[in-house]
Order: sequence, then C-alpha cells, then structure tokens
Amino acid sequence: MIKRKRTKIIKIGNKKIGGNFPILVQSMTNTKTADAKATLSQIKKLEKAGCEIIRVGVPDLKSAEAVSKIKKKINVPLVADIHFSIDVALESIKQGADKIRINPGNFPKEGLKTIINLAKKKKIPIRIGINSGSLEKDILGKQRRVTPEMMVKSALRNVKLMENLGFYNLVISLKAPDVLRTVKAYEMLAEKVDYPLHLGITEAGGEFSGTIKSAVGMGVLLQKGIGDTIRVSLSADPAEEVRVGWEILKSLELRERGVKIVSCPTCARTSIDVVGLTKKIENITNQIKKPLRIAIMGCVVNGLGEGREADLAIVGAGKMALLMREGKIVTKVKEKNKIFEIFCRELKRMV
Ligand code: SF4
Repeated sequence: MIKRKRTKIIKIGNKKIGGNFPILVQSMTNTKTADAKATLSQIKKLEKAGCEIIRVGVPDLKSAEAVSKIKKKINVPLVADIHFSIDVALESIKQGADKIRINPGNFPKEGLKTIINLAKKKKIPIRIGINSGSLEKDILGKQRRVTPEMMVKSALRNVKLMENLGFYNLVISLKAPDVLRTVKAYEMLAEKVDYPLHLGITEAGGEFSGTIKSAVGMGVLLQKGIGDTIRVSLSADPAEEVRVGWEILKSLELRERGVKIVSCPTCARTSIDVVGLTKKIENITNQIKKPLRIAIMGCVVNGLGEGREADLAIVGAGKMALLMREGKIVTKVKEKNKIFEIFCRELKRMV
C-alpha cells in the first residue's frame, strides 16, 4: 500500500484535497468559456466520465462573467485559470469560482493583494501554477533549458510572496512537458512544502504518447506518496484525460472506480477471441461505476488463476469457453461465440 505524504487540507468548493482525502481527478475544458452553453455541455460529459474538479480558461471579462452561469448547473468545483489580468481574477472570484489558478509573479504586488483579499473573503484557495514554459526571466537568465531547480525556485518564491501577504490557502503545481524534469521538480518541492500538490506532465502530447508520459511521470510520483490531485494533459478529448487519470489511480490502487480489466496478450495457446471480447467488454463496461474486476484469458494456463481473482471472467479452455464468477466456474460452453452473450447476462445481474 502506498503511504501518502501528509499535506495540508484545502477545501475546493464541495471537495477537499490533501491530508488523507482521495486524490482527485481533474480536467480542463477546451471550449470558449464565454460560450457558457458549450462549456456546460462539455463539463457535463466530463462529470459523467468521472471528472471531480473542472478548470476553465478565463482569458477575458466575458469569460469571467460566464462563470456563475456555468457554476449553477454543475456539481463539481470550478477552477478559473487566469493570467495577467487583475480584473479578470477579481471578476472570476466574484462570479463564484471555487479556486483560481494564477502565477502570482505575473501580477503587480498591489493587484495581487486585492486578489488575495477577495479570495480570503470568499474562502477560496489559489493554485500557484508553475510551468517550465513560462518561468520568470530572472530565474531563467541566459539558459535555454529550464531545470527542476529553477522551477522549484520559482514555486518557493511565489509561495513566499503569498505567505508574506498572509495567504496560506494554497495548492501548487510544477509542470514540465517531460517526465524526468517534472518528477525531480515535484520531489524537491515535496521536501520543502506541505501544501497539496496538483500533479501533471504539461503539454504531454497526443493521446498515445501523452498517456504514456503522464502514466510514467505521475505513476513515479504517486508511488512515492506525492500528489493530491492529478490532471492528465492531452492534445485530445478532455474526457480521455479523465479516463487516463482514473486508470493511473486505479492501477496504483489509490482509488477505485468502475471496471478493472485483466486480459492476456494472446499467444499460440489462445482458444477464444480475446482481442475482440476485450474490446467489446471495454465498450459495454466503461460507464459502470461499481468496482469490478473482469478477466478475459485465452487459455487455462493463467486463465484459471486470473479467473479466481476476478469477479467475472471468460477463459478459453480448448474446445470450450468458461465463464467464471467470483472465482468459480459457473458455465462451460462449446459454442464459444455464445460466451459474450452469457457474460453480458451475468454482468447485468451483478451491476
Ligand atoms: Fe497465452 Fe494462455 Fe497466457 Fe493467454 S493466458 S497469453 S493464451 S498462455
């Protein structure tokens, strides 16, 4: 079992992160926030996929004004992502954002004070979001490449800035687009602060490479007990980010949700259509919320063992296909093409 690093508990709308609270999965919309209808529709889809905190980009006042309209109709906390504009930050808070994400160093001190005072009044946290791509020029100096040390320096500087203004309701992120820099930066920061950490490999890439990078990077950190909320960042449908985020947490047994599929890679011993069955079973189970372990195994070599550990399993057994439920063989069929139908009936009974 992974021992999590204890961090300060921070409340974000109707959710809490840090301490012993579950690591929450978040995502970000890619609609124009000012178009409240389109943004709402995307958030609804993301909520359904399992998104637990949603962030929206707020580039202007029109977008900030849409925040309250959106908030009224969603169930998850809304985070407003703001850069440079004090007015937009203030308006987003006034409109009911549950948290804002800023780079404090991008604001003049007086403006930052105003934002902090309003955040304090509304009891909302602020995420200090450090990205390697937008590091302060004085830290970067003449270097072309940002180092983890530079990112941590920037984060600590911003934390200090906020603390000196009497603000401690903080979450921190420290993202780079590659695994090693990001991991190193978070490891170093986790030693120095006890604020909750929002994990992510930023701009990780497309669905395939971004998923792998995110899983590797966040996996390493989460396994060390670092991280209180995660955002997978993909150049793809945000619903995919949520799906990947959940799979990362499920694979480390940090959270449970829905179906966990165990399926073999197939080989010369395979006696059922494992690939086709797995695809079909993934499709019909991706909306199930109840935690279930399902195994699809090509033969009895490992099939019976995996079937024993699964809630429901299909196992190829020479001329037959077996259906196992809670570790026991409940059906043996010679017409192997009927096994999917039988499986579906049993699944329906279970959920
Ligand atoms: Fe091959 Fe059987 Fe292993 Fe599947 S479970 S990969 S069919 S040996």
